[in-house]
Amino acid sequence: MSDKIQAIRGMHDILPDRTPHWQHVEAVLRRVMAAYGYREIRLPLVERTELFKRSIGEVTDIVEKEMYTFEDRNGDSLTLRPEGTAGCLRACLEHGLLHNQAHRLWYSGAMFRHERPQKGRYRQFHQLGVEAYGMAGPDIDAELILLCRRLWRELDIAHKLELQINSLGTVEERLAYRGKLVDYFRAHFDRLDEDSRRRLESNPLRILDSKNPELREVIEGAPVLAGELGDASRAHFDGFRKRLDAAGVPYAVNPRLVRGLDYYSRTVFEWVTQELGAQGTVCAGGRYDGLIEQLGGKDSTAVGFALGMERLIELLDEPERFETAAHPHAYLIAAGEETELAGAQLAEAWRDALPALRLQTHCGGGGFKSQFKRADKSGAAVALILGEDELRNRTVGIKFLREEREQSTLSQSELISFLRTII
Ligand code: ATP
Ligand code: MG
Repeated sequence: MSDKIQAIRGMHDILPDRTPHWQHVEAVLRRVMAAYGYREIRLPLVERTELFKRSIGEVTDIVEKEMYTFEDRNGDSLTLRPEGTAGCLRACLEHGLLHNQAHRLWYSGAMFRHERPQKGRYRQFHQLGVEAYGMAGPDIDAELILLCRRLWRELDIAHKLELQINSLGTVEERLAYRGKLVDYFRAHFDRLDEDSRRRLESNPLRILDSKNPELREVIEGAPVLAGELGDASRAHFDGFRKRLDAAGVPYAVNPRLVRGLDYYSRTVFEWVTQELGAQGTVCAGGRYDGLIEQLGGKDSTAVGFALGMERLIELLDEPERFETAAHPHAYLIAAGEETELAGAQLAEAWRDALPALRLQTHCGGGGFKSQFKRADKSGAAVALILGEDELRNRTVGIKFLREEREQSTLSQSELISFLRTII
């Protein structure tokens, strides 16, 4: 006997009793994206390793320790995408979509990061990514927030999420800030952990993003970037806030919000929840104006966010309702070869007449009793019964599986009107 092969740690199957939750969320996402004029783009799962190194930044958690990188048969270094922004930008540059144009785009799908698996943190997980190119003002930054708010509302989870915002200024402004930050952390060197000590030279801002609770206090005391912002950055941030205020979106300014990726500038934001323990960030994003040039494009502007589908779905109330809503309406039972043949044909005719009907026909034989068991297990509201008598009389028996109602018999010609009432 051979051992069973199991899934890779941190990479999960989504079984059929869970896919209705996903489909519900996906349907809402599509609708809301369309409501704001965002168009879908589909991208490869694998890109050149160089793309992520250049965009996400060498000294980030993702590039330092989380990427699934492998050598292709011809020796190229490839990586399973750990996020979507870099690939989306690569595609748009490659196809000339960025020059003097504005685009609103979204994508969704699997991302891969070699992290320590735990609740809300997986090695294969799924994101919805939204990117807006070629719009420099704070109006588009605010639009992304409104779009998020609409998503939360339509999913009935708005009360569980709060918005945190910050401005990271420009590269120059961050450089001025960096000096002050290094001075501060150097003065508190003994309180830093190993990762942070290493980052002190290479990327001190990242220390602010540390998840180590022992560092919280020293991070709280660090100088903030707001003091270094120039007029243009401040005006952008004020414009962003003004639009949120006008739309009645509550938020908190979190001066220590820096995000884990290198490419952000000016606006950054996170939607966080208290309901998921340590993995509380559901959606995160911001502006990354410099990235396009960094990837070889002309100077252009970009802003976007990514949301974690697993964490979002975890926030849904009464998720079982989506599974129930996906059950078959009816389950057709037909014992005996002749009735089974006739039943399959009738079922096709009913499906022709009622495209929205979810009808399962029993397959695999067996007596009435075992077929009823299956019908019950399918979650169907009614069992349709075709026995030899019914076949002869051109009728169908109807048994309600979820309500106390008497079994009845309808003529085959009346059945479609009946089925219409249970869809
Ligand atoms: P975290 O701080 O939780 O590690 P991050 O800053 O690495 O998140 P982003 O790269 O901004 O996350 O990704 C956006 C969103 O994708 C996160 O807010 C989260 O909801 C989701 N996400 C990121 N990594 C994972 C993961 N390993 N498993 C599940 N969801 C994830
Ligand atoms: Mg992370």
